[in-house]
Amino acid sequence: PQSLMWFRADLRVADNPALHLAMQNGPVLAVFCATEKQWQQHDISPAKKALLVAQVRDLADSLAQLNVPLLVLDCPLFADIPDALAALVKQHDIQQLYYNHEYEVNEMGLSRQVTKRMKSLGVAVRSEHDQVLTVPGSIRTGSGEFYKVFTAFKKALYKAAPDILRPYYAAPDAQQKVDMNSDLQALDNLDVDNSWLERWPAGEQLAQQQLQRFVHEAIRDYKQTRDFPAQDNTSRLSAYQAVGALSTMQCLRAALAENNGELDSGNEGIVTWINELIWRDFYRHLLVAYPDLCKHKAFKSDTDRLPWKHDEDKFQRWCEGNTGYPIVDAAMRQMNQTGWMHNRLRMIVAMFLTKHLFIDWRWGERYFMQKLVDGDLASNNGGWQWSASTGCDAVPYFRIFNPVTQSERFDPKGDFIRNYVPEIAKFDAKKIHMPSADLAKRFGYPAPMVDHASAVAQTKAWFKELNASQ
Ligand code: FAD
Repeated sequence: PQSLMWFRADLRVADNPALHLAMQNGPVLAVFCATEKQWQQHDISPAKKALLVAQVRDLADSLAQLNVPLLVLDCPLFADIPDALAALVKQHDIQQLYYNHEYEVNEMGLSRQVTKRMKSLGVAVRSEHDQVLTVPGSIRTGSGEFYKVFTAFKKALYKAAPDILRPYYAAPDAQQKVDMNSDLQALDNLDVDNSWLERWPAGEQLAQQQLQRFVHEAIRDYKQTRDFPAQDNTSRLSAYQAVGALSTMQCLRAALAENNGELDSGNEGIVTWINELIWRDFYRHLLVAYPDLCKHKAFKSDTDRLPWKHDEDKFQRWCEGNTGYPIVDAAMRQMNQTGWMHNRLRMIVAMFLTKHLFIDWRWGERYFMQKLVDGDLASNNGGWQWSASTGCDAVPYFRIFNPVTQSERFDPKGDFIRNYVPEIAKFDAKKIHMPSADLAKRFGYPAPMVDHASAVAQTKAWFKELNASQ
């Protein structure tokens, strides 16, 4: 083979910019590095790990149709990758390496190291952007700054579209057969809990079908239904995006096709959904502009001076879904059991941890990564820092969700709670949002671990004090 395609979090053949380019300069050999120790250090959840590994197998099948062999290399840490790739290019006399960018600090460091190594061997390197709609750094204010307000960022994107959107690439044509076989053996040695695949099956085609079903059947109602966890009417495509079985660009294209190509007008449901895709882009741009976000730093650095708590026992109750606030507990149990949590609930539980228990948002961020099938540093960090009021364009510190009124509003009949908190499933739609401590106790459900009003008052006081000290 002439070219090497290095797959990372872009495990698909359609709309894969680097693969597309590589195939124009074939024959192509593909490689994926299984970095089990690094995944562990990055807190990858068992659900996401199972999906990722199964997606590599699915990718091998899709590549086989294109006559592209895939080799999986066992590289426990990112640091092992440059040597492993160097050995491979030498062995096969490869002339070019292709890959798609990743934007986290360690991943960017790895890209640089691999590039340097390849160049020292005389191998040309081409990198492309696949995860984003627009290239990070391409949307800036008049004075060249990063937009710190999402709406302004979105408006700038609307204004510059379609030119600013990255190109879309159809799946490439098959190449001539090469005299090599795929080798996925390294996947067999990984410690994977495949039971997660029943809930989150892998597959590029499957992701496409789910996308098509969503845009044909549910997207038009998205604006009205998206906040109601019991209705389960969001796309649930985030897991596929996290492993790259599906690109955000493919999502956008499918939405635009249903909306006469309009980004910001037309059907309200579609425009609202596109808005969420742009949030995803916003957080990726943010990560590149502020790499410190990958290093456990608050975007508003002064908020690191807040007296965040590190109370293991209280944190554990939150993790397990035993806070005594039914909507919080139902949400945490949904994530623990299924690897996914509805967006409205992610905001509710994140605010509960940070604004009621005043526990360090980094603890919650990490726990989410350890549990979520769609765990993604940019979106997760963005979501946590939004909720904790430490982030870029975050919720103002004084706008604190009341978990009981949120519950009444977004789970009015209590159906979602009933699903995950069986102890109180018999309670009627009025009592279920906040059963009295006595009643709850009788049914084996905990009393609320904290009083809403006083917790919120204390949190506001701490933020106020911080602001006054500026
Ligand atoms: P849909 O409602 O169908 O939205 C479509 C797509 O838009 C999603 O698949 C996702 O790619 C994107 N999107 C939607 N909402 C957001 C958002 N708020 N920020 C960024 N992108 C968004 N998303 C992740 O993918 N991984 C995470 O680790 C993650 N952690 C989060 C943590 C917190 C505290 C919060 C508040 C949000 C987090 N989100 C995360 C964002 C959001 O909750 C999920 O993307 C969404 O719930 C996924 O479900 P869906 O695919 O059905 O979304």
